Amino acid sequence: LPMLFTHRGLSGPAMLQLSNYWHTGETISINLLPNIDMTALLLAHKKSHPKQLIRTVVADYTDSGDDSNKLPKKLLAALQTHLWDDIKDTELANIKDDRLTELGATLNGWQLKPSGTEGYRTAEVTRGGVKTDEVSSKTMQSNMQEGLYFIGEVLDVTGWLGGYNFQWAWASGFVCGEVV
Ligand SMILES: Cc1cc2nc3c(=O)[nH]c(=O)nc-3n(C[C@H](O)[C@H](O)[C@H](O)COP(=O)(O)OP(=O)(O)OC[C@H]3O[C@@H](n4cnc5c(N)ncnc54)[C@H](O)[C@@H]3O)c2cc1C
Repeated sequence: LPMLFTHRGLSGPAMLQLSNYWHTGETISINLLPNIDMTALLLAHKKSHPKQLIRTVVADYTDSGDDSNKLPKKLLAALQTHLWDDIKDTELANIKDDRLTELGATLNGWQLKPSGTEGYRTAEVTRGGVKTDEVSSKTMQSNMQEGLYFIGEVLDVTGWLGGYNFQWAWASGFVCGEVV
């Protein structure tokens, strides 16, 4: 899923999806290049192209368009500053395997601890509240209070991004509407 860097923090479909599972204080791991084993690639290039720089290797997997399998070109410069500034002009042959291994692991599993979310102000889904086992799945009526019905996202049903929350709201509303 695509991820966005914004002036307020990380966003985009990947982050919205992840925020359904994340709890305050937890570390998240982001694979910036999910289709490539970056450690293996860097070590292989060290042997086959010892004079190359790290950015040249990574640049093969960047794109200025919106190919979500590739890193945006602008991000490469920022990552270099953040992750390998001290060896940015060092040829691969002169970089220790341990450092390349560490860098590859970071690119495939960047560890971040978010300081928080923006909360309900920008949330796309509430993650429920009413337990599903307290409601009839045939009528959506509460098992505890006759005549009280719950549908949609007020229930503990949270879909992935992609229309599943709408689907649930409409389907549960339809079922309820048939009996009320
Ligand atoms: C920005 C955004 C983007 C989203 N994009 C998607 C998407 O692409 N795909 C997807 O599947 N889901 C998406 N969702 C989630 C989806 O919109 C909700 O899961 C769905 O609308 C929930 O439907 P619902 O009927 O349970 O609640 P709601 O749609 O919130 O309806 C509740 C209604 O109750 C009314 N209400 C509240 N309190 C009272 C009261 N006291 N008296 C009378 N009326 C009251 C509210 O005004 C509201 O009209 C998105 C949500 C947001 C915020």
